[in-house]
Parts: sequence; C-alpha cells; structure tokens
Amino acid sequence: MNSIYIESSLSGKSRGELIEIIENQHRKIKELERLSASDALTGLLHKKAAIGAAQKFLDGEGKNGFHAVIIADIDDFKSVNDSRGHLFGDRVITNFAASLKKSFGEDRCIIGRAGGDEFFILMKNCMLKDVLYCAEKLCSNFERVCAGQSCSFVSCSLGVSCYPSDSRDLNMLYEYADIALYRSKSNGKNQCSVYDRSFGNRRL
Ligand code: GH3
Ligand code: MG
Repeated sequence: MNSIYIESSLSGKSRGELIEIIENQHRKIKELERLSASDALTGLLHKKAAIGAAQKFLDGEGKNGFHAVIIADIDDFKSVNDSRGHLFGDRVITNFAASLKKSFGEDRCIIGRAGGDEFFILMKNCMLKDVLYCAEKLCSNFERVCAGQSCSFVSCSLGVSCYPSDSRDLNMLYEYADIALYRSKSNGKNQCSVYDRSFGNRRL
C-alpha cells in the first residue's frame, strides 16, 4: 500500500526532481540523527552518544594510539543556581560548553555533556602535556560568566585518565578519570588531577 502511494506521488517527476527529493530526505535524516545525539541545552553530544563515539574510536582507528579521557565538572554549581537562579545556571553551563570546545578543540576531541554540570572529553592522539595545556586554558577561559551587567566568577575541576597506560577499557577509564576529578575537588577545586594508581579504585 505504502509503496503504491510513494510510486504514485513520485510518478511524473523528472530524474532531477527525484534526486532533489532523495537529497532532501537524506538531509532531514542526517539532521534528525544529529538532534537525537545532542544535548538540548548545549548542543554537545549527550552522554550515550559521546561514550558510543569514544568506544567506536577506541575499537577502530584509535586502537593503537595514546588518548586521554577527561571529566570536567563546574565547581560549586549548586550555589550558582541558588544565588543567581536556574536560568543564569543554564547560561553558565552553555558558556562552559563553549569554553570546552574552544580550549580542547572539536577537531581532536569527542566532547559530550555527561549530565548536570559534568562533561566528558576523549582527547585523541595526545600527550599528557597537551591535556594539561588545554585544561589550563579551560580554567583561565572560564573564570567570568556574565548576564547583562552582572558577572560571577566560576571555576571548574578536571580528572584525567590515560589510554592505554591506565586501561584499555572505556568504563575503567571513565571511573579512573572520575576518581581523579574527586581528587581535584577534595584538594580545593579549580584544578586538574591525573589518575595515579596510588589513588586506588574508589573516590576519596
Ligand atoms: P562540586 O563543586 O562538588 O561539583 O559541587 P556542585 O555544587 O557543583 O555540585 P554538583 O556538581 O553535584 O551540582 C550539580 C547541580 O547541577 C545540581 C543540579 O541542581 C544542577 N543542574 C543539573 N542540570 C542542570 C541544568 O540543566 N541547569 C541548571 N541550571 N542546573 C542544573
Ligand atoms: Mg559541580
């Protein structure tokens, strides 16, 4: 029934018109795919899409390289929401997403919003010094968030784990980066920590 309908709606079209219809459909499908992988507030990948892209990379072209998993989290974000309101909080999150893209670079990183004020980054084919350089850039980029005339000073903390030296397993890399992030938080925030075996397997 459907194919009869499609055939009748397409009959009489020229080859050029048919190609245009197919290309339009293809564009719509691509846009729907992009939207279904995106976080609505920031436009970054959502967690499942970012982890999926990272896993695909590690299983394929990235298998034999050196990469870093980074988790970044805004410091004291609850108090930003409480003192300045949820909409200002949203603005801080979108500014942070923009700072992440600017500091780490979308061309060499998979960047996603892991949820709330937490973000996931897979930096491809890098050395630890590249990660630390980008983390430093992020921390200095992201000091001041303004809404109209009024500004707030906001900081963030990061945790890093390395592929393949810490693990080849993405779940473990995520866990280790999270442990390193909690090290940054407990050491006073506004800093980046790199996972070390002495941190153990659990958050402090
Ligand atoms: P810490 O320094 O330890 O990270 O403390 P924190 O206050 O930042 O605590 P936490 O990271 O747990 O806070 C996350 C808060 O983010 C809790 C939640 O109310 C808020 N949040 C989650 N999603 C959104 C959002 O989309 N918009 C806004 N404005 N707030 C959000
Ligand atoms: Mg936070």
